[in-house]
Amino acid sequence: MTIAHNLGFPRIGAQRELKQAVEAYWKGNISEAELLSAGKNLRARHWQLQRDAGIALIPVGDFAWYDQMLNMTALLGATPARFGFNGALSLAQYFQLARGNARQHAMEMTKWFDTNYHYLVPEFLNTTEFTLGSEWLFDEVAEAQETGINAKPVLIGPLTYLYLGKEKNAGLRRLNLLPDLLVVYRQILARLKAQGVEWLQIDEPILALDLPQEWVEAVQPVYAALCDGAPKILLATYFDSVANHADMLKSLPVAGLHIDIVRAPQQADVFARNYPADKILSAGIVDGRNIWRNNLAASLQVLNGLRETLGDQLWIAPSCSLLHVPVDLEQEIKLDKTIKSWMAFATQKLGEVVTLAVGLQHGKESIAPQLAKSHTAGQSRVYSPLIFNREVRQRVSSLKSPDDRRASPFAKRIAAQQEKLKLPSFPTTTIGSFPQTAEIRQTRAAYKQGKLSDADYQAAMQAEIRHAVQVQESLGLDVLVHGEAERNDMVEYFGEQLQGFCFTEFGWVQSYGSRCVKPPVIYGDVSRPKPMTAEWSRYAQSLTGKPMKGMLTGPITILQWSFVRNDIARADTALQIALAIRDEVQDLERAGITIIQIDEAALREGLPIKRADWSYYLEWSVRAFRVATSGVADTTQIHTHMCYSEFNDILPAIAAMDADVITIETSRSDMELLDAFRAFKYPNDIGPGVYDIHSPRVPSKEEMLRLMRKASAVIPRERLWINPDCGLKTRGWAEVEAALKNMVSVAHELRSARA
Ligand code: GLN
Ligand code: ZN
Repeated sequence: MTIAHNLGFPRIGAQRELKQAVEAYWKGNISEAELLSAGKNLRARHWQLQRDAGIALIPVGDFAWYDQMLNMTALLGATPARFGFNGALSLAQYFQLARGNARQHAMEMTKWFDTNYHYLVPEFLNTTEFTLGSEWLFDEVAEAQETGINAKPVLIGPLTYLYLGKEKNAGLRRLNLLPDLLVVYRQILARLKAQGVEWLQIDEPILALDLPQEWVEAVQPVYAALCDGAPKILLATYFDSVANHADMLKSLPVAGLHIDIVRAPQQADVFARNYPADKILSAGIVDGRNIWRNNLAASLQVLNGLRETLGDQLWIAPSCSLLHVPVDLEQEIKLDKTIKSWMAFATQKLGEVVTLAVGLQHGKESIAPQLAKSHTAGQSRVYSPLIFNREVRQRVSSLKSPDDRRASPFAKRIAAQQEKLKLPSFPTTTIGSFPQTAEIRQTRAAYKQGKLSDADYQAAMQAEIRHAVQVQESLGLDVLVHGEAERNDMVEYFGEQLQGFCFTEFGWVQSYGSRCVKPPVIYGDVSRPKPMTAEWSRYAQSLTGKPMKGMLTGPITILQWSFVRNDIARADTALQIALAIRDEVQDLERAGITIIQIDEAALREGLPIKRADWSYYLEWSVRAFRVATSGVADTTQIHTHMCYSEFNDILPAIAAMDADVITIETSRSDMELLDAFRAFKYPNDIGPGVYDIHSPRVPSKEEMLRLMRKASAVIPRERLWINPDCGLKTRGWAEVEAALKNMVSVAHELRSARA
């Protein structure tokens, strides 16, 4: 029998039921019992749905109230000691780990590999001990078994758990915690076995990273220790190739391996060759990371090849957990029918996995209707006028090298800009957005629902702009912004105005905790029918004699925060978006805007999993940025903004973007990252953030002055700007005004001090 199984299902629910229940519980609107029952209902529904689809082994333990890594921390009894929690965690305590409490800040959160999902980072001390903690996993397994589900519990593997955690004591090596950790893993596995579990999935996605040798060497002993006396273990890898470890992985005493053959198709053959006769090979062939329909005929061909050598040892699955795609396409009744026919969400993907398993087992005649549908959808996409724009294709292919470079080098440009702008030293500015008040959001919503006329909406937004300008003028900021009141989201706002994008109604994916995002879908060639921001900027500039900064989102960030088409290279879509932004930049320039900021918040997170792939990515992404920004006069000043603080390994690429000014997040890292900018001799202007916008706290003049003094010790003062870490849209006006007042006074102080 060819088994169809699943690695993980989105837990949030088709209507974001989990989000609603969790947030209602936080607000005190529902009781703990009500929350527990909401979770139980969702699990039951998702198990049922998978069983109905024909999934033979159903993941259990992919559910979490907040995050799967946090669930592991709870299961392993490894809650950070600073919280002072003893024994099994209560639900209230679990949420305190995720969200902080009056005494302790929350556990740190970071991105799960190259996805937009965020996990809570385990904290390790010299004194960290592991003990069997929360019982949730065992309860859920029992719950699944009661409903007659063939449960395959899912755990994050011990190596991935340790590797993704952080040492909080100097000198601690987290790999040294492994023996203690394995004791608890063995207890967990024994408990599951006693519950009658036959198969267990252990995820070790770190195997796809460039892993230090000592971690690679740990794999064999770890799995030798775990397999003994445990249920059958399916060791799951995903997000990239693990072919470099193929021999080692095949030699493990585990009962099966899962590999991602969507991201890394070449590894299928590497694994199938001389595959041990006693193991399962699970082929992840349905894309768990994107929303496109599978090409069933092509997949079947690959799988048939594998089946020739593997027979029933071959299992079929999505490439990774379906956590990263929305729940159910059937809910999308407003979506263009043709585009919809090209797509598959989690529920549909399970159908594809099952269809492929049936087709393998019983021949392609047995799935003839599904193959026909998949074929029709595929053909309609290839030949669709919806995806093809000749003019855009021609523009991309005829891009020449002058199109991706400014006319003059930075030194000449900055002199010309200074001549025109006459900014004081240590110019002050903000990153773009001002507080998005409830009124602003209501106004936008009313307009979207057609309850507000164009004229009324425009008047309301112009009033917001006037307010923002007036506040900035009275604070004495040097370079103003219009405040971005008209933008719901920095990517969606542009996607809605560009051709080639569409939007779902319920296409939510979990970002972290109860926070979900609904990424735009890029389905076709991207073009810009008309200017997107120029009118707002022109209006804002008309209100002030100070320079008004135009505000755009960059091509890589738009790409990175969308579901991207898979029928042309990402690099080509990036260039298409870059050309649309380039046109907007030029329209802003024509509208009299002399400073234009192009945010590339997501440049770093687009870095591929493997370092060997970095340089190609950086090459095309930097080129896309340069295409977007090079069409202007020397006197037009290009800014970019990035909101993170790890630049060390990508500084040459950042410099190659050749923005006249870059603003970055630095206040929380105490300006430390500026050392990298100095060591690299970063040539252009820099605005290191001095105001941590993630907190309502108003920073004092003294602390911002201290940060700027630190900055001017490493960066020439004539290169320095003063600004917050990021946009201010999540803050309130009172705190923003107080903080910016202090910030401006720092500039005055520095200007009056001698160099
Ligand atoms: N211009 C955007 C803002 O100010 C930048 C946001 C971001 O970098 N995430 O909100
Ligand atoms: Zn930012």
